[in-house]
Amino acid sequence: MTIDPETLRQIEELSHDDRPLLVLDVDDVLLDFIRPFPRYLQQEGYRLEFSNFRLHGNIFHVETGSAAERERVSDLLAAFFDAQAAWQTLTEGAADAIETISRDAEVVLLTAMPHRHRDIRRRHLDELGLCYPLLTTEMAKGPAILRLRGETERPVAFVDDMPHNLLSAQEFVPDAHLFHLMADNSLRKFLPPPPEGIVTVEDWRDASGRIAAALGI
Ligand SMILES: [Mg+2]
Repeated sequence: MTIDPETLRQIEELSHDDRPLLVLDVDDVLLDFIRPFPRYLQQEGYRLEFSNFRLHGNIFHVETGSAAERERVSDLLAAFFDAQAAWQTLTEGAADAIETISRDAEVVLLTAMPHRHRDIRRRHLDELGLCYPLLTTEMAKGPAILRLRGETERPVAFVDDMPHNLLSAQEFVPDAHLFHLMADNSLRKFLPPPPEGIVTVEDWRDASGRIAAALGI
């Protein structure tokens, strides 16, 4: 798999940094998603009921009880991200932990969402005081993390709530330190045990020291 060309363009705009690299997912790692999204859905006449770790197939129209069509789910998600500043709060403990790590490491945010939402998310993060570079990707994250590392062998850590993103990182950057953090740990019951090489962390309090140690800072 190759890198998303727009993500590559965004990476090339970053200033060169040789320090250890921490790459962070945004939704449910830095900003709450799975708690505010159902509240947004309720306002729109829908409810979210998990029977597996997916959105598609688990969103139902309140009045008719029928599952929302794939396209409708995508539209609801897009509308939520357009309005994210009103809904998405900081994940508990994230801001302080990342601020401490960023004194000795490069921190880059890598969010899997349509590029057209990048500006809205950028503004929201700035308002929350999170001024770290933000990249969007519509393709796998692994190639982007490999490119972010650059030519050096600097240590890399990556935090995400989606196992497939961690596996993509593992494929392209085999020595990356991978952390599975979920803003809502109750959803772990829908996931298989983490694959080998991926460290489960309970929350940012648990994660921060482990990330610093992995990065050697
Ligand atoms: Mg996420």
